[in-house]
Amino acid sequence: MNKLLQKKEWDQEIKELAEFINRGFGKRAEEQSFNRDNWSKSGKSKIQGLSIPQREGGRGLNALESSQVLETLAYYCEDGGFCFALAAHLLACSMPLYLYGSDELKSKYLTKMCDGSLIAANAITEAQSGSDVFEMNTTAVKEGDYYILNGHKIYITNAPVSDVVVIYAMTNPIKGFFGGITAFLLDQSLHNYELTSRENKFGLKAVMMGQVILNDVKVHKSHVIGQEGGGGRIFNTSMIWEKTCLSGVHLGSMKRLFSQTRDFLKSRKLGNHRLSSHQVIQHKMSELYALIVSSEAVLYNAASRLDENPNADLSASTSKMIISENYKRFASDLIHLYGAKAFVDNHPAALLMADSVASTIYSGTSEIQKNIISKHLGII
Ligand SMILES: Cc1cc2nc3c(=O)[nH]c(=O)nc-3n(C[C@H](O)[C@H](O)[C@H](O)COP(=O)(O)OP(=O)(O)OC[C@H]3O[C@@H](n4cnc5c(N)ncnc54)[C@H](O)[C@@H]3O)c2cc1C
Repeated sequence: MNKLLQKKEWDQEIKELAEFINRGFGKRAEEQSFNRDNWSKSGKSKIQGLSIPQREGGRGLNALESSQVLETLAYYCEDGGFCFALAAHLLACSMPLYLYGSDELKSKYLTKMCDGSLIAANAITEAQSGSDVFEMNTTAVKEGDYYILNGHKIYITNAPVSDVVVIYAMTNPIKGFFGGITAFLLDQSLHNYELTSRENKFGLKAVMMGQVILNDVKVHKSHVIGQEGGGGRIFNTSMIWEKTCLSGVHLGSMKRLFSQTRDFLKSRKLGNHRLSSHQVIQHKMSELYALIVSSEAVLYNAASRLDENPNADLSASTSKMIISENYKRFASDLIHLYGAKAFVDNHPAALLMADSVASTIYSGTSEIQKNIISKHLGII
């Protein structure tokens, strides 16, 4: 039988980690709760620091390998929300801190962000600037060695359980997004900002999502990531990593559900014939398999390009758009094969479907990816 997952050297380790995380997942999905022990356990495998060099406390993998570890994790792990939480922390928080942070900031936070001691969130979205990040209202006004931050960030992954937050704020409205936005690393134990409690969600049940509220929050200049005005570039770089490698989670999830569904169709009997005996079912599975194979090829290509070129934005956006749309189509076709069984609460196919919808929204919606692609192609 065709093996969907290419076995790599990390397979056994990641499988055991996923089995650990899977314990109690049904209850967590129902309660929409988070388990910090799972976070600490993942830190032992440096999932939160996969693409960070070993000298900085990470696992030292490249983008392709990091995507493949995330794929392996999502293949064995039923908790799509938790896989997303790990990947968002790694790609949108650890990576920008590693690439742009000062030695002082890195030595204080990066190792702890890689080994599971800290949870990070990345906050750019606001009520009036979701897709249009250029319309940001959060401000950071310089006063001597400090900045005073005011603003309100929403839909922030990990926020309710986070220890640190990467915040983007406007420091120079005249310059706008490139040159006028600055990235800060805020620390719950040092800075007086508010995190709301978790919000109920349609999918990604066990990742916590909330808001970050900043009212005259005083932040020392040593907590600027990179340079003042460099936030636009930092955000774009972190999105290149997220748009590329996060698809490893989507790919692994599709492969897991494909295997489970193949087993289900062969065991499900209606009268004296198996469901898998219908040609229409066989064809549907062939189509789902094609979505997996094309997603895999696109992901591995985009991740290899990122390993060659840190500014590989065109392949990142193209890959993100293709794979998240494949994922959504895959999930909505797959759930139909279960009939009413998947309509009960928290069936794996139903969870997959809800998670797949989110994938076409976060890290920039499919429409925004098309805008980016058109710009790179000189069409706009
Ligand atoms: C599960 C999940 C996790 C998230 N995690 C984070 C996080 O950790 N940090 C963070 O900062 N944000 C996060 N977000 C927010 C996410 O980045 C935004 O939801 C996303 O950028 C879209 O913004 P919006 O929801 O305000 O939609 P809107 O911008 O209001 O868009 C609504 C619709 O209009 C379309 N649209 C908007 N503008 C255009 C345009 N110019 N051209 C064509 N179509 C357009 C969009 O594609 C979409 O279909 C998360 C979102 C989700 C769902």
